[in-house]
Amino acid sequence: MSKINVLDEHLTNMIAAGEVVERPMGVVKELVENSIDAQATKIEVRLTNGGLDCLQVTDDGIGMDRQDATKAFNRHATSKISEVNDLWRIKTMGFRGEALPSIASVSKTTLTTCDGNDSTQVRIEYGKLVEAKPMAFAQGTSVKVEGLFYKTPARLKHLKSANTETNMVFDLIQKMALGHPEIAFELYCDDRLKIQTNGSGSLQEVIMNIYGLETAKKCIPVSFGDFDFQVDGYIVSPSINRSTRQYINCYVNGRVIRSLALQKAIIDGYHGFMMPDKFPICVLNISIDNQLVDVNVHPSKWEIRISKERQLYSLLTENIAKAIRQSLTPSDMIVEHIKEEKKEPERVILNEEKVSYQQQEIADFIIEPTHTERFSYLTQLHGRYILACDEENLYIVDQHAAQERCMYEEIQNDILNKSIDMQPLLVPLIIDVTPATINRLEEINEQLACINVEMEPFSASSVIIREVPVFFEQIDETEFMQDLIDEIINDKKMSTLEIRKEKIASLACHSSVKFNKYLSADESKKLLSRLSNCNQPFNCPHGRPTMISISEKQLEKEFKRV
Ligand code: ADP
Ligand code: MG
Repeated sequence: MSKINVLDEHLTNMIAAGEVVERPMGVVKELVENSIDAQATKIEVRLTNGGLDCLQVTDDGIGMDRQDATKAFNRHATSKISEVNDLWRIKTMGFRGEALPSIASVSKTTLTTCDGNDSTQVRIEYGKLVEAKPMAFAQGTSVKVEGLFYKTPARLKHLKSANTETNMVFDLIQKMALGHPEIAFELYCDDRLKIQTNGSGSLQEVIMNIYGLETAKKCIPVSFGDFDFQVDGYIVSPSINRSTRQYINCYVNGRVIRSLALQKAIIDGYHGFMMPDKFPICVLNISIDNQLVDVNVHPSKWEIRISKERQLYSLLTENIAKAIRQSLTPSDMIVEHIKEEKKEPERVILNEEKVSYQQQEIADFIIEPTHTERFSYLTQLHGRYILACDEENLYIVDQHAAQERCMYEEIQNDILNKSIDMQPLLVPLIIDVTPATINRLEEINEQLACINVEMEPFSASSVIIREVPVFFEQIDETEFMQDLIDEIINDKKMSTLEIRKEKIASLACHSSVKFNKYLSADESKKLLSRLSNCNQPFNCPHGRPTMISISEKQLEKEFKRV
């Protein structure tokens, strides 16, 4: 006997609901996307008890006529596509025609709509049409969803507390509002207004409404692209950051998406400007020819597939890093200055170049600024900081972080340019290692060749090194070598040589021992001069700032002169 049943429409809707609308946030997402597709300029979202009791989305969009108001609840009923080819050029948020029937199959749904002529209300309870009647309503559509999942206990059990569900909707509406500054959004939770944007079209204003004034002030506008992609929006200066990825807002053709890969590309753009456990804030819309995007890979459309992904990642990473570098005021001017310096055939030792600055008297100190490439050295502070200035700013340089940055770039340059100066050791370096290391000595030596280090077996559990790079003088060589051997042995990912070189530089500055010592004035000046030659002088390799600056304007403000 035949065992296969063709499922009825109600059952298929309920199954679809499992994918499309997992929780109140999913329902709100589908309804808001419908409002966006209906060209709404204002969207209001109301939640009661996290949406578990009631949620309602109201818009001022094009609305529906009497017929469509009921037709919209049929499975696969959509006004957005009509033939196969449409699937490859989707410009709307929705297209599957699944949301309304799915939502209505697991809740009491009331839709009220007006297209300028007809005004209609349709009520559906757990998949059954209860009522469809004329009902006075302003232009637009309102969908009210009550008793969500009451008849699907498995799903109900899966829901979190009202508070958690509210927070998810809260995050979603923030993202939606950031993605659509041209739409005025309002979110009310238990009748309290939680989010409000004005729909003026200014993204910076929305950023201010959502993330606050300080963040909005630190926004860096970006606009870049290539033949296939155009990226527009704001990235927030790395000085303001967060401990989760939540604030990395990515849109593709106006659609909110979740993409670990795009997030990573953005985080990589911030690399070196931020501590590794911190994440940036940004709002970026990526415009792509609709034919290069497949939005039909995920029922709730959080994920999409993009052709030429690699190209997009490097576009993002490179341009974000560039925008940050250019925005680090007052570095624009300074970086330019360095570039000019580098054109000179011979390096000028500027430490010795005393520039006739006005002498400044502080207590009984006389501080005579001495010019280095960028900074005029003033004095040392607490044995840990160097005070320096240029024409616009006072700089407080963290000696330790600055040394780390210099070491890192210098070692990296040496490794990359294969110009590692070596020095033979009178007393060779003996390093304790595991027998397993001795076993793999040849392979490890291959990896160490980029810093010209060669280890020979010395005993069953130690190796000997007779010649080392000059930069070893500045580091704890034993700690460095042990870390490096561990790193090579435990590298399951089989890093490429390029990555290895970066790691070596990073490990070297980690094991620097000579950092905490007091620097003489001359040593401080030398450090400032080395820092001036760094490509990225503002952060140590671990992301900590190397210096803070106080501008003349800030001083005037502090002293109440403006
Ligand atoms: P989809 O959005 O994938 O087309 P839905 O089930 O979400 O499917 O909606 C079905 C149809 O109902 C839409 O194609 C649209 O024509 C209509 N519709 C839904 N919501 C609205 C709205 N807020 N304003 C106007 N029309 C709407
Ligand atoms: Mg839809």
